[in-house]
Amino acid sequence: MSYKALYRKYRPSTFENVFGQDHIVKTLKNAIYNNKIGHAYLFCGTRGTGKTTIAKIFSRMINCLEMKENMPCGKCEICTANNIDDIADIIEIDAASNNGVDEIRELKNKIKLVPVLCKYKVYIIDEVHMLSTGAFNALLKTLEEPPEHAIFILATTEPQKLPITIISRCQRFDFKKISVNDIFKRLRYISDCENIKIDDDALYEISRISDGALRDSICLLEQVSSFVEDNKNIIVSDIYEIKGSISFDELINLIKFYLNNDNEKILEKIEDMYLKGKDFNLISQDLLLIFRNIYVYKKAKMYFDKQDIQNKEIIIKLSNNFSIKEIENIIKKLDETINQIRSSHYPNIIFETFLLDNINNKEIDKNFSEKIEEGIIKKENLNIEKKVEKKIDNVLEIENNESKDKIKKILKNEKKLINKQIQNKDIIINNTIALASIDEKKYIINALKDINRYLVNDKYKICASIIEDSNIVACSVDHILFTCKYESIVNEFDNNLLMIINLLYEIFSKKYVVAAITEKYWNEKRPYYVNLMKTKDGIKLIEEIIDENNDKIENNEIIDNYVSIFGNDLIEMEDE
Ligand SMILES: [Zn+2]
Repeated sequence: MSYKALYRKYRPSTFENVFGQDHIVKTLKNAIYNNKIGHAYLFCGTRGTGKTTIAKIFSRMINCLEMKENMPCGKCEICTANNIDDIADIIEIDAASNNGVDEIRELKNKIKLVPVLCKYKVYIIDEVHMLSTGAFNALLKTLEEPPEHAIFILATTEPQKLPITIISRCQRFDFKKISVNDIFKRLRYISDCENIKIDDDALYEISRISDGALRDSICLLEQVSSFVEDNKNIIVSDIYEIKGSISFDELINLIKFYLNNDNEKILEKIEDMYLKGKDFNLISQDLLLIFRNIYVYKKAKMYFDKQDIQNKEIIIKLSNNFSIKEIENIIKKLDETINQIRSSHYPNIIFETFLLDNINNKEIDKNFSEKIEEGIIKKENLNIEKKVEKKIDNVLEIENNESKDKIKKILKNEKKLINKQIQNKDIIINNTIALASIDEKKYIINALKDINRYLVNDKYKICASIIEDSNIVACSVDHILFTCKYESIVNEFDNNLLMIINLLYEIFSKKYVVAAITEKYWNEKRPYYVNLMKTKDGIKLIEEIIDENNDKIENNEIIDNYVSIFGNDLIEMEDE
């Protein structure tokens, strides 16, 4: 048996098997049933959405030799023909290859001849917009006064290129892109029939990147199945490899590097992708889609909620890092980048320039530079992430040399200290208010306005969201007092206290003593301190336990980094 491409093998031969174009199928079926068949149809829609498939099914149905109650019999020569190309009265013309006036002239001459076997002579003209002006004029004449037995089905991906005189003579049908879910279902059916072993994730990725074109998706499935070894399960990374794309997680990592101003990581990643033969055009398009979704979220949250968008939560978190203006600029630049990549011999360099260029722009971003001028953010804080990376490297060295027991002991001590800090919140409240400074409070609140950029940082995202949910009510040179609306947030705050202190250290290069209380508790306590301030002695400082450990600052740094890497779990473990 000769080899048949999968998409041909699974091309539907009846309306019942057509996917995703229900409205068109229904209308055409009704036309047959009511015996109201037109002489010219125009099928518009993007590639692979079933235009020619439906044209062929329709031509066959209207030509059934033994119609029963205006419906095809399913048994006659026409209904059962294996291949529609064998039916002489159904003629398919590819305008993309036969675009001359001659072909249409020939059509004009032959169209007068009555059909050989069928009731109707059907001309399916694919990619009709490719016809020359002369050919269009010739076709128009025929369309104006077609013989009774002639039917035209014109198919096009670009209806806007058709003369209005042609469009106005046709019944127009607009084909929808087929939904990811419908494509997925069809691919699952085909792969089961063909005994192709493929994960749902991989199948979903094929469905997604085919962009509504079922035919493309089936071709890709076939390509992938011939790429992997027999009997091996196809997994999602196989799809990335074949298409030259990268995973969503990898895309997000690129964006994180961008946000963290990490040029080294960006260059390393691009080099790695280049060596693996990745398709920078595709990657740029996937990036564009992510930024588009962020933009949609920022502009129209309700619309965003209703859309079938992958990884919505991550998109929402990412959106906090960009202003609308920034997103607009990025989308514009990405679009330019995609155009340049298409015509360039060095797509990796174009892509690289895009990511690094944007980072430079971000550094001189107006908001940022203003803040620097005002001295609110010290310049070195722009490279916080790099400092953290460096520290981690140091810590890993220590891990090799120092015994684990020692580190665990330090961690245990630190945990004790934190517990004391939580137990002695009243002392911290007292001392914060005793030393409170309005300037200090303004400085800290301003510097923490940017806290949401840590929402994409794996180490600090939890702390950043807790801080974002809290209010700063009082600050001193060494203290920050937070209030939270709910007890549960205070608990979260306390559970992550070590990491929060750590994050604040990264931002301010300084260790703060911090405490979080509920708004309710603050409102109860405040009048007491207000009264106290009016007295002669004012508020007296209470000695803090934390001071005892100030000499251990070196150890603390080690712990900070350990917690950064391993999280609080490690300390929790040591508690027992
Ligand atoms: Zn029939």
